[in-house]
Amino acid sequence: MDFEITEEQRMFRDMAHKFAEQEILPPLKENERQEKFDPAIIKKMAAQGLLAPHMPQEYGGLGLDYVTSSIIWESLCSASLAVTQAAVSGSIQPGTNLLDAGSEAQKKKYLPPVNKGEIILAGAVVEPNAGSDSSMIETSAVRSGNHWIINGTKIFITNGEIADVVLFIAQTDKSLGLKGLATFIVDKGTPGFSSTVQKGKISWRGGSEGTLRFTDMELPLENQIGETGKALRNALHGIDTARLFLAAGAVGLSQSCLESSIKYAKERVQFGKSIGGHQLIQEIIADMATKIEASRWLTYRAAYLKSKGIRHIKEMSYAKYFAAETALWVSSQAVKIHGSFGTIDDFPVGHHYQDAITATILGGTAQMHQLTIGQQLLEMAAFR
Ligand SMILES: Cc1cc2nc3c(=O)[nH]c(=O)nc-3n(C[C@H](O)[C@H](O)[C@H](O)COP(=O)(O)OP(=O)(O)OC[C@H]3O[C@@H](n4cnc5c(N)ncnc54)[C@H](O)[C@@H]3O)c2cc1C
Repeated sequence: MDFEITEEQRMFRDMAHKFAEQEILPPLKENERQEKFDPAIIKKMAAQGLLAPHMPQEYGGLGLDYVTSSIIWESLCSASLAVTQAAVSGSIQPGTNLLDAGSEAQKKKYLPPVNKGEIILAGAVVEPNAGSDSSMIETSAVRSGNHWIINGTKIFITNGEIADVVLFIAQTDKSLGLKGLATFIVDKGTPGFSSTVQKGKISWRGGSEGTLRFTDMELPLENQIGETGKALRNALHGIDTARLFLAAGAVGLSQSCLESSIKYAKERVQFGKSIGGHQLIQEIIADMATKIEASRWLTYRAAYLKSKGIRHIKEMSYAKYFAAETALWVSSQAVKIHGSFGTIDDFPVGHHYQDAITATILGGTAQMHQLTIGQQLLEMAAFR
């Protein structure tokens, strides 16, 4: 057992941290006020080689293991989990799905430009009536001669409005349930495909989500990815990678809150001394640091098992569930330590607090992870 991070990991951590401070942080406050994600960050991240660390080199990634990738994601998310998620998401869930299930021609066509930041790929599963329960997917794919006709709506899709390409799941035969689901890929501009941006957000304001509508959209047969009936199974590796990214991101968010809280607790004087000198503040700081450390090692452990190809279903759920809940708790404590100043956007703790609630929903809600852990331990499913 080795808990040391390597020289290479240290180098990537420092590089990602510097990028977060120099490129993600400066425009963040204004962009969040306007609920704006600036896609220029994707190209900048790609230029530094930070956009797709886990992707194979032959498809434009760095070919790094998942522990090193997690360290990079953690560092980037210390500035903003929402911005980083919008920037890297193409290479994570939909990119991994394509890598696993796509033909060589499909992979060569889409993956290198996505992983190099030349085009934006979105992954669309969720619909108005299908959230945690994918068996409810209603977007229909009906075979007609040498093409598919697609009708349906996808909501809360990361980069939905700005994506050049969308990988989505649709139902080919309702009577088959999950076995009727199939994955497709569509280019922006295809007749029948339209998108709008999601506004009115109370969280993830630096991120980017949209609604997609498919109206009698014709897709050539070759736009199907993988076999019908295997859509969810093929998506699993990508979903697993998204969970790891979010666990690592939640650790980065929490660490930033801790660092800001320590600094502020040393500087802010009340009742004749730094508030950090009051025992009740030290208790909060100690609990924050302990929970963050636990989140970090749960995340690295899940990443390690994933890199080794060892089964890690419950370990990934421990990491995603605990790190996201910790981020929510830590960021709320951080706001309290900053007092009134914590409630305005001059300090990072405010936007981290806003983003943390979304981290508990994306990549599987807390309840879905509790049910997954319960299912693994009890060997019985409570939800399907
Ligand atoms: C910022 C953001 C980005 C997103 N990006 C994408 C994307 O790129 N692609 C995509 O497809 N989707 C995306 N989503 C959607 C996201 O994946 C879903 O919101 C998430 O899966 C939860 O689904 P839901 O919101 O419909 O909640 P629901 O599934 O309706 O759940 C509502 C509540 O009920 C609970 N619940 C549900 N079933 C059970 C049960 N059996 N037992 C106990 N409790 C239960 C849940 O835990 C939750 O608390 C995004 C969402 C956000 C906010």
